[in-house]
Amino acid sequence: MIALIDANNFFVSCERLFNPRLEGRPVVVLSNNDGCVIARSPEAKTVGVPMGEPWFNLAPRARALNLVARSSNYELYGDLSQRLMTVLAELTVALEPYSIDEAFGRVPEADRADAAGWAGRVRAEVARRVGLPVSVGLAPTKTLAKLANHGAKRSPGLNGVCHWMSYSPRQTAVILAGLPVTEVWGVAHRTAVKLAEVGVTTVAELRACDAVRVRSRWGIRLARTVLELQGVACSEDESPPTQHSVMTSRMFGQPTDDPAQVLAAVVSFTQQAANRLRRRGQVAAGAQAWASSGRLGQHSWVQVSAVFSEPTADPVRLCRAVRQALAPRLQAGGRYNRAGVVLSGLSADDQPSLLAPPDLGLGPVLDRCHRRFGDNAVGLGAAGLRHPAFAMRQELLSGRYTTCWNELMKVRAG
Ligand SMILES: [Mg+2]
Repeated sequence: MIALIDANNFFVSCERLFNPRLEGRPVVVLSNNDGCVIARSPEAKTVGVPMGEPWFNLAPRARALNLVARSSNYELYGDLSQRLMTVLAELTVALEPYSIDEAFGRVPEADRADAAGWAGRVRAEVARRVGLPVSVGLAPTKTLAKLANHGAKRSPGLNGVCHWMSYSPRQTAVILAGLPVTEVWGVAHRTAVKLAEVGVTTVAELRACDAVRVRSRWGIRLARTVLELQGVACSEDESPPTQHSVMTSRMFGQPTDDPAQVLAAVVSFTQQAANRLRRRGQVAAGAQAWASSGRLGQHSWVQVSAVFSEPTADPVRLCRAVRQALAPRLQAGGRYNRAGVVLSGLSADDQPSLLAPPDLGLGPVLDRCHRRFGDNAVGLGAAGLRHPAFAMRQELLSGRYTTCWNELMKVRAG
C-alpha cells in the first residue's frame, strides 16, 4: 500500500503558519521578482484569482478582493519542507520526496489493516510537529495514490484521507468515468489531445486500454500509466515533473556507508535534474537534497536545502550548493540506500541579456557532450563516471548501435 502525502496549498500554508491573520483570507504567493501567482489559498480560488496571473494585473484590485500577496520565500519553504519530510520519514517506510511538499511512502506493516486510521494519525502528527495541513491518498500504485490524494483534497467530508481500496469496483468505475484524462499523473494536455482522437477522454476509458497497444502506439510511459491505473505498480526513477519542481531520485544498487559515495550520487542526480531544467528552459530558486537509510528499526533521514537569490540552472552552482549543504550532515556508517534531489521555485529563464552576454555556465556545454557521447561521458565530480554504488544496474547493457557513432556494431571478416 502506497501513501502519497501532500501539503495543502503548501506555500500559502507556510506563510500562514507565521502570520495567523492570513487565515480565512484570500492569499497568493508570487513567483521570483513578484511576477505572477504561483500558489493560491482556497479563498483566493473562490474569488477567482487564476493561477499564473501577473501581479501587476491583480495589484489594483487587491484591496477590493481583500487579497494578500507574499513574495516567494524559498528559504522558509525549504526549511519547512525539511521538517515535514523528517516527520514523514519517521512515520512511513521508504519515504521518497517527490516535490518540495509531497512524498510517497509505504504504510508500515503493522498499520496496513487500518491504513486510513494510520493516515489520520500522520496528519495529526504533522499538524502537531510542523503545523502544516496535509492530505493523504492511499492506493496500491503511485498513479492511483495521486488520484486518491486529489480526492482527499476535493472532498472536505473525507477529512484529508482518501483510501482507494475503500471503494467498491463499481464506485471506482463511476469516479473514474467522471474524471478527464488530464487528472492523471503525467498525462499532459498534448497527450490528452492525441487520446481524444481515438475517443479516450476519461480516466475510466484510459484504464480500459490495452497496455501493450498503448505502448506500441504512444510509448512506454503512457503504457506504464495505464498499468498503474489498473493497479499494477510500475516503478520509475524519473517521475513526471510537477509544475513547480523537478525531481531525480534513486535507490542505490547496494547500500553504502561511505558519505563520499552518497555525495557523488547526489551530485550526479543534481546534474540530471539541471539537464531537465535546461531542457524546459527554466531556472530554479531552491534545491533540496536528501539521503535515507531504510534498514528496519534504524531509520535515518537527512535533508538539506539551498536557496539561490538569483535563480539558476547552472549545474556548477547547483551542485556546489547541494554538496556544501549535504556534506557535513552525512555520517560514516550510515548505510544509505536512497537519495534524491528536488529543484523548486521554477520559473522561465527569461533574464534580460541586453547589457551583458548571457552567462550560461557549463550547462549547455555538458548538454552537447551528453547528446554526442552519452549521459555518463562527462560530468562534475564523480558524476561523469559510472559508479557501482549508485549507478542503475545495467551490467547487461547493449550498445547504442543506432544512435552513437562510437557504439556501431562491429563486424569482422575472415
Ligand atoms: Mg501540495
